[in-house]
Amino acid sequence: MNFHVLTLFPEMIEQGMNTSIIGRAIAGGYLTVQAVNIRDFAFNKHQKVDDYPYGGGAGMLMQAEPVYLAYESVEKKIGKKPRVIYLTPQGRVFHQEMAREFAREEDLVFLCGHYEGIDERVLEEIVTDYVSIGDYVLTGGELPAMVMMDSISRMVPGVLSNQESGETESFSGGLLEYPQYSRPEEWHGRKVPPVLLSGHHANIDAWRREQSLMRTAKYRPDLLKTADITNKEWNLIRQWRKEWKAETNKE
Ligand code: SAM
Repeated sequence: MNFHVLTLFPEMIEQGMNTSIIGRAIAGGYLTVQAVNIRDFAFNKHQKVDDYPYGGGAGMLMQAEPVYLAYESVEKKIGKKPRVIYLTPQGRVFHQEMAREFAREEDLVFLCGHYEGIDERVLEEIVTDYVSIGDYVLTGGELPAMVMMDSISRMVPGVLSNQESGETESFSGGLLEYPQYSRPEEWHGRKVPPVLLSGHHANIDAWRREQSLMRTAKYRPDLLKTADITNKEWNLIRQWRKEWKAETNKE
């Protein structure tokens, strides 16, 4: 997977992507991350990349031409038209299935806006996907691009040392992950659930499934609608809901 990031702040990307699992994956040749400085494509006296918006209004806008030339340099380098993701609060909200889908591409271009955003005309010309990382406004697209690259990278074969851990995590299968415990068996008087020490794999799997259902029903009930849940499990969820309601009424 090759990530190309069009940005006014390449050092943010370079520093942010070179540590831990992602840094190891880059060193191992599973990923490349190239930050392209849009300012290098502003061929005017002060390498200016922004200007006032027509019609007035607050702030400055990134101009079309340097963004286009930065994009074109990537297109020429890789020899094809890649998918271009514009990070914007106006896009579709990013989720795990999108990460899985983007991970199938060989090259991905991320376009990071700054100031009030980017001249619409270049967006119309080069952008294939408009993606937001949530309903709030940030100062630039660099952090959202890094959030997306991090989660997409985890879907690229070889990036996680144990591929299993990518498959059983929250959102895989539509549910949140079950709680996990490590040594010691008792900490601050809190014991590890006995079933996890039993060595009985079928019971452990059943306990984990139930915990996943319970967490999802409690914290993210919206996810249940699309998750794969049996009738028996739905009955269990209804039962828990009654119990939780009774508890709240007691308080
Ligand atoms: N004027 C724009 C609007 O109202 O839609 C917001 C511009 S924002 C201050 C500057 C840049 O930050 C955007 O061009 C975008 O690249 C990035 N950005 C801000 N919030 C974001 C979010 N929630 N998701 C993705 N990118 C975001």
